[in-house]
Amino acid sequence: MRKTLYLKFLLAYLIFGFFGFVVVATFVSSMTMEHLKREKADALYREATLIANTYASDLYNVETSLESVKKQLDALDTYLSARLWIINPSGRLILDSQSPIDVENETVISDFDPTVTETSYYTVGYFFGSFTEEQLSVFAPITSNYKVRGYVVIHYPMVNISISCNGLLNISYLMLVILFLLSLIILIFFTEMVYLPLRRITEATEQYAAGNMHYEFQIDSEDEIGYLGATLSYMANEIARSEDDQKKFVANVSHDFRSPLTSIKGYLEAMLDGTIPPEFYEKYLTIVLNETERLTKLTNGLLTLNNLNTKGILLDKSAFNINMVIRNTAASFEGTCKNKTIAIELILTGDELYVNADVEKIQQVLYNLLDNAIKFSSPDSIIKIETTEKHNKVFVSVKDSGIGIPKDDLKLIWDRFYKSDSSRGKDKRGTGLGLSITKEIIHAHGEHINVISTEGVGSEFIFSLPVAEDENED
Ligand code: ADP
Repeated sequence: MRKTLYLKFLLAYLIFGFFGFVVVATFVSSMTMEHLKREKADALYREATLIANTYASDLYNVETSLESVKKQLDALDTYLSARLWIINPSGRLILDSQSPIDVENETVISDFDPTVTETSYYTVGYFFGSFTEEQLSVFAPITSNYKVRGYVVIHYPMVNISISCNGLLNISYLMLVILFLLSLIILIFFTEMVYLPLRRITEATEQYAAGNMHYEFQIDSEDEIGYLGATLSYMANEIARSEDDQKKFVANVSHDFRSPLTSIKGYLEAMLDGTIPPEFYEKYLTIVLNETERLTKLTNGLLTLNNLNTKGILLDKSAFNINMVIRNTAASFEGTCKNKTIAIELILTGDELYVNADVEKIQQVLYNLLDNAIKFSSPDSIIKIETTEKHNKVFVSVKDSGIGIPKDDLKLIWDRFYKSDSSRGKDKRGTGLGLSITKEIIHAHGEHINVISTEGVGSEFIFSLPVAEDENED
């Protein structure tokens, strides 16, 4: 592709030059010739008419000698570089500007036919065989007493017209060459603005195709080519980033699967080889069971995320009372809260507050947020769940006064598998998937979720949901 595009353009350039030459050599040449011939014929015809009306007609009307008319014709011959004749209607040559008067030997033009010019006033040829070279011959009748007495014929050699024509054509050829050289500028522009940037883009695509997604290239122009380059570079960066994410993701998954599997394997082997005596089986089997539960949770979380990530996930939307869902979710944590002596305070707007969303998914969101709030709260603290309605939206807030999230971690907590260092000690069973699932669910609804947190003070997660238009709809 690289070579041919340039060659094609070069070929087009040469074809342009060739056709330019052909046009000048054919059309322009014949048009110039025609124009010069007509112009010369016009001028000579005017001259012939003048002679026919003056000196030549004097020859028939007044007593003017042939010699004196011949002198005039000779002068005009030199002036016009043309041969002037006066012939009578039967073709007898009366006067010739280029040969002396010879009454004895009359020259008669055989087959002379004054209508040879047809509708025109000139003819090109050998004038009834009188010349060996082509002539442009112009006729003007000499009339006296309404009778045609003879003709003034002016012959101009076609060679002279060809010489002038060639002179003009040479100028055209010169112009063509200048134009051809000037159009080299287009070739230079093409090379600089299209060909070279395109070559850089092609090189980059080759690198990307070979898997080198971190290959960098620069195109400075701000036109379509520049835009193409920037888009391509952006695309490669995105692919590289997603590849890196994928690698990180696989590493995280493997790591998170390996640790429970290692501990399960370790305990089971110890039981089999007798390192753990049968009286401790119950204790260690409980640990093994907890680890398998963690693996199940991890697998379920991954599956949920995978489904959420598929573009255009189907949400089973309906209008439901969010206050009731909150009450039920809070109730399901009663046991855990009692153990940690944590209270959940519900500050709900109205008795019923209808939103339009996928109830099961929102339940999961509330579950994840409340689970985290309890996990990261210190005993004897209060968790507040609040609903407010504003601008056709319902805002749900889950606020705890727990360990809080370090400022640097705030952006990262939404990433898959992210667990802040401070949380690791408190929460050994967390998968780091809860908040990414939560975020995906809320985004799938076209809504937003935010966090406000201060380390050591507490965290507040707020998400929005659309108010159900018709509260009775279900
Ligand atoms: P996990 O299942 O491990 O809790 P999440 O995605 O739900 O994973 O949370 C990611 C991390 O965000 C947690 O490990 C924790 O560090 C931080 N986090 C989430 N919620 C809170 C909270 N209410 N208080 C403090 N830290 C939190």
